[in-house]
Amino acid sequence: MTKNNSNDSMFYEILVRIFTMLNVADLVVASMVCKSWNLACRAPELWRKLDLRSLSLRSLSVPLSPHAWIDEQSSNTMTQFLKYATSLSGENISCVIFNYCVYLRDVHLISIAERTPNLKRLVLPMSGEISKNGLEIAMRSWRCLESITITTSIYDFKFFDAIGKHCKNITSLKFACFFGQEEAESLVKYTPNLKFLSFRDMPINHRALCRVLNSLEHLDVVNLCHTDIIDYGLKLYSSHRNLLNRMNISCKIITCEKRSCLMCKNESTNDPTRQPSGILEEIRNWREDEIDSLAH
Ligand SMILES: [Zn+2]
Repeated sequence: MTKNNSNDSMFYEILVRIFTMLNVADLVVASMVCKSWNLACRAPELWRKLDLRSLSLRSLSVPLSPHAWIDEQSSNTMTQFLKYATSLSGENISCVIFNYCVYLRDVHLISIAERTPNLKRLVLPMSGEISKNGLEIAMRSWRCLESITITTSIYDFKFFDAIGKHCKNITSLKFACFFGQEEAESLVKYTPNLKFLSFRDMPINHRALCRVLNSLEHLDVVNLCHTDIIDYGLKLYSSHRNLLNRMNISCKIITCEKRSCLMCKNESTNDPTRQPSGILEEIRNWREDEIDSLAH
């Protein structure tokens, strides 16, 4: 190696080391500075995770309110940003976490999916408007997908048809939305290898829960902390143990016993930012989980 090459290589390594401290929006800006910065911004180790939870670039700042970026102009900016960022990643992204408050559209999902063929974990935002066709295209690209945090952004249609067709390796799911009988049937049919399942702090239909617990043979852990188990709109069980004791279940069930869960521990600290407060509480529930692999 010549002296120049050696210096170039050291410069590259130093830049990459520094860039590990940037968020994705800053990384995008850095990539536009010059050729050598652009090259360093494409280092595979910078792109394992595409974390869109906090975008600090002024033109891309995402307010902390539901349905942010719902207007056309914001949506277009988001699309351009996602296309450019994922083009830097060299197909190295294995995890995508959306900002909870963005309004997800087909074009966003597809822009990412086309450039992330090795995606394993997907965390969806709270709301959006995804068509069946959009989902079909995305899932066709994501054949390696193993884990999804599901929200109301994809709630109104047959999400699992596309999963069953293209993603055969799903082992972890978190429902940050209602779980009913239709969803339970879909899980039994399309995700037979499921190991980790979380319904943390969400309402769940009683029959739907029984169906998955009795039918998914590979279930390892199910998180039911603060879950309301309901039937015909009525809350059925004040203690989950009453229900679970009647069933012959081999998997581990996590429930909140004596305020032992993360939510209760957070409330008991005196940190004011940990107190229940609408959207912040929702976001916290979406991010945290007693099953480590489903937290982010
Ligand atoms: Zn608790």
